[in-house]
Amino acid sequence: HAKEHGKARSALFDTAMYNQAMSLLQLEMALRWAIERQELRVYYQPIVSLTTGRIIGFEALVRWLHPEQGLVSPAQFIPVAEETGLIIPIGQWVLYESCRQLRQWQTQFPTASTLTISVNLSSKQFSQPNLVAQVEQVLKDTGLSSNHLKLEITESGIMNNAESAALLRQFQALKVHLCIDDFGTGYSSLSRLRQFPINTLKIDRSFVSTMREAVEDAEVVQAIITLAHNLGMDVVAEGIETAEQLAHLRRLHCEQGQGYFFSKPLNSQAAETLLIAGFQW
Ligand code: C2E
Ligand code: MG
Ligand code: MG
Ligand code: MG
Repeated sequence: HAKEHGKARSALFDTAMYNQAMSLLQLEMALRWAIERQELRVYYQPIVSLTTGRIIGFEALVRWLHPEQGLVSPAQFIPVAEETGLIIPIGQWVLYESCRQLRQWQTQFPTASTLTISVNLSSKQFSQPNLVAQVEQVLKDTGLSSNHLKLEITESGIMNNAESAALLRQFQALKVHLCIDDFGTGYSSLSRLRQFPINTLKIDRSFVSTMREAVEDAEVVQAIITLAHNLGMDVVAEGIETAEQLAHLRRLHCEQGQGYFFSKPLNSQAAETLLIAGFQW
């Protein structure tokens, strides 16, 4: 009996594995098509100065405009893209498209001349040998100057890569701005953090969203801001949704923020409308 039982179990297991592999394969194929059919879009979420209330830049966030399913969020396809290596062409396209868009806004609207674009890099992209050359090429092709580009990398992306320090220094030499995304959720060696030429820490949304209810989270936020300032970095709070969170962050001298309180990520047209209006919070 035990043997039969085991057999049934492993058959079930195999079916589950098979289905999982199939759907992964299907998603991979659909994603390949999406790139060719140009179904990917960049959405732009304003990053706001908490002192002036003005837009200082945008974060580029990819979406998949699926012909049947509509707008698909990156959480649903970025993991597969990372697993299959498709993140390389996707990331390359997002970088190019968002730099091109910002450059276009800069030439169209005088008020856009100082804006920056923040682009997410997955750890897969970060460990590509020719990454710096690729970024340089995109800047050259789009005409965007390097000090208007910010690259967002996660703690694990940096800490798991032996070449990080050398790579980040190359970006620093190019005057590309470097941010650690979702800060506080990974494990960072603070002594190693000091060795990297990081300009900005982005406080993860999970701390910001509960900082008004949970004392511990408020203390984490405070600690990250103090840490950043002591290391000569600036801070962006992610996921600001309420006026109370905003007021609290201002009291803590957090200089920048983004979140639904200001704006959700917008398509390029809606972002442009916001720019033209010269909106101020
Ligand atoms: P992220 O880089 O930490 O981006 C912030 C995410 O928080 C975005 O989700 C944004 O829409 C969301 N968000 C911003 N403000 C609020 C708020 O007030 N409340 C709530 N509930 N959410 C807020 P999104 O666009 O779904 O992206 C999720 C993640 O997918 C990103 O997290 C990033 O890790 C990844 N991602 C997005 N675009 C790209 C890309 O082009 N390349 C790579 N490698 N990853 C990307
Ligand atoms: Mg990000
Ligand atoms: Mg983030
Ligand atoms: Mg995040």
